[in-house]
Amino acid sequence: MAADYVDWLRREGRIVIVGASLAGLRAAETLREEGFTGSLTLIGDEPYEPYDRPPLSKSVLLGKASPEHTELPRRRELDAEWRLGVPAAGLDLTGKRVLLADGEEVDYDRLLIATGVRARPWPVPEEAELDGVFVLRTRDDATALTEKLRAGARRVVVIGAGFAGSEVASACREMGLEVTVAERAGAPLVGALGGVIGAVAAELHLENGVDLRTRVTVTALEGDAMGRVRAVHLSDESVVEADVVVVSLGSMRNTEWLSGSGLGAGPRGIASDAGCRAFDFRGIVTDDVFVAGDVARSPHALFGYQFLSLEHWGNAVAQAETAAHNMICPASDRRPHMWMPAFWSSQFGVNIKSVGVPPMGDELMIIQGSTAERRFVGVYGFKGRVVAAVTFDNARWLEYCQRQIEQGAPFPVEYPTVDRRPEGRQPVAADFPDPSLPTHGPTVTLSGYSPADRRLVFTPGHH
Ligand SMILES: Cc1cc2nc3c(=O)[nH]c(=O)nc-3n(C[C@H](O)[C@H](O)[C@H](O)COP(=O)(O)OP(=O)(O)OC[C@H]3O[C@@H](n4cnc5c(N)ncnc54)[C@H](O)[C@@H]3O)c2cc1C
Repeated sequence: MAADYVDWLRREGRIVIVGASLAGLRAAETLREEGFTGSLTLIGDEPYEPYDRPPLSKSVLLGKASPEHTELPRRRELDAEWRLGVPAAGLDLTGKRVLLADGEEVDYDRLLIATGVRARPWPVPEEAELDGVFVLRTRDDATALTEKLRAGARRVVVIGAGFAGSEVASACREMGLEVTVAERAGAPLVGALGGVIGAVAAELHLENGVDLRTRVTVTALEGDAMGRVRAVHLSDESVVEADVVVVSLGSMRNTEWLSGSGLGAGPRGIASDAGCRAFDFRGIVTDDVFVAGDVARSPHALFGYQFLSLEHWGNAVAQAETAAHNMICPASDRRPHMWMPAFWSSQFGVNIKSVGVPPMGDELMIIQGSTAERRFVGVYGFKGRVVAAVTFDNARWLEYCQRQIEQGAPFPVEYPTVDRRPEGRQPVAADFPDPSLPTHGPTVTLSGYSPADRRLVFTPGHH
C-alpha cells in the first residue's frame, strides 16, 4: 500500500507549498527534478515571485542593485500554480486543506510549510508608525528604506547590533550618513558569536565612525508634529536625533496561521523530525506535512540531536531539497537533513563566515591570525569537542574547520598554526550572554545529550 501510494502521489498527487520564497522555490524545483508530475501549488503572501533577501541589507542598500532585481535565479522551468499576494490563514489537518485569507481553500495530499520569519516590529505601534521608522526583511522594506536614505536623510539610528543591524550600519556609513547603533548587549554580534568576537565587531563599528552605544535599550521613539521620527531616547537618559530609525530586533516565526491546527507550531517555529516531517502538538510525527527553512526547527545528529532553528540561506536551500525528496520517496529512501550550519556576512569591508553552532560553544581559541588585525580563525569548543568556527577575512580555513566539527575533533585544538603565531594557545571563555536574554543569533534549543558524548563519525552525504 505504501509503495502504491508513493507511486500514485508522484504521478498525480497534489502538493501544496505555503511560503513562496527561497525554501518554497527550491523545494518546488526539487520536486519536479525528482520526477513529481502531479499538481503543484505555491501560496505566498507577498505579491512577488521569489527573491533573494541577503542583498537587501548589502548591495541594495548601497544602491548597487535595485530591490526589483533580486529575483532568485530559477534552476529549471516550473510547471506550478502560483497563488501570490494571498496569505494562508489556516490549516485543516484532518481534511488536508489550506484555508486562504480570501476565503478559498486548497486541498493537498502532501503539504510543505516554508513560511519563514518576519522582522520583529518596534513594540509600541504608534512609535513604529512614525515616518522614518523601518524594519528590513522584505523587498518592500528595502525599497522604502533606500528611498528614504536617498531622499536627504542625515542621521540614522539602528536599534540592535546583530548581523542585519550591523550590515545596515555599515552600508549607511559607506553612504556617508551619521549612524548611531544602540545595542542591549556589551557589543555587536554577541548573540551569534559571543563577547570575544563581539569586541572585535565593536572596534569595526567605532573605526568606521559609528556612534556605538552598548548596554543600553531604546526607551522611546519621539516624533514631530508632522508624524516624522525626530529622536531616539535611550535607557541611559541620552537622546539621539534621528531622521531614520532602523529597528533590527531579530525575527518572529510565521506560525500564527497554524494556531489551533493541531501542528506542533509556535513562537519557536515548527518542530519536525530530521526528515523534515512536522510534529503534531502531541509530538507525534505527521506523514503528510513537511517543513523547511527559517520556520523549521529540527534535531541535528551532529549537535546532540538538539533542535536547531537556523536563519541561514544555505539551510533553507538544503532543508527544502531534503523535504522535497522525502515528500515523494518511499520511507526507506528518506534522508535526514544533516546540513552543517553555515552563514556569511559582509560589513565594514570585512568578510565574516561561520560554520557549526557558535552559541553552543563555551570556549574559543584563535587558531590562525589575530583579532587585532581582524583577520583570524576562531574555533569554538564545548565539553572537549570542536562545535563551530568563525573567520574574519580568512575563509580558506572554513572547510578544514568544518571537517573538524564533523569528526568531533578534540578541543582545545592541538595542531600547530601554519601561517602566523596564534594569539594564545589557551582557550578563553567565548562569553555568550545569558541564553534567557534576547539575542540576534541562530537559536538553539537545548534538548539533546551533550555532543561531547558523541561516538559517531559524521559523514555527510553528497547528492
Ligand atoms: C536583510 C537580510 C539579510 C540576510 N543576509 C543573510 C546572509 O548574509 N547570510 C545568510 O545565510 N542568510 C541571510 N539572511 C537570511 C536568509 O535570507 C533566510 O535564511 C532565507 O530567506 C530563508 O528562506 P525561507 O524561504 O525559509 O523564508 P523566507 O525567506 O522568510 O520566506 C518565507 C515566505 O513565506 C511568506 N509567508 C509567511 N507567512 C505566510 C502565510 N501565512 N501564507 C503565505 N505566505 C506566507 C513570507 O512572506 C515569505 O515570502 C538574510 C535575511 C535578510 C532579511
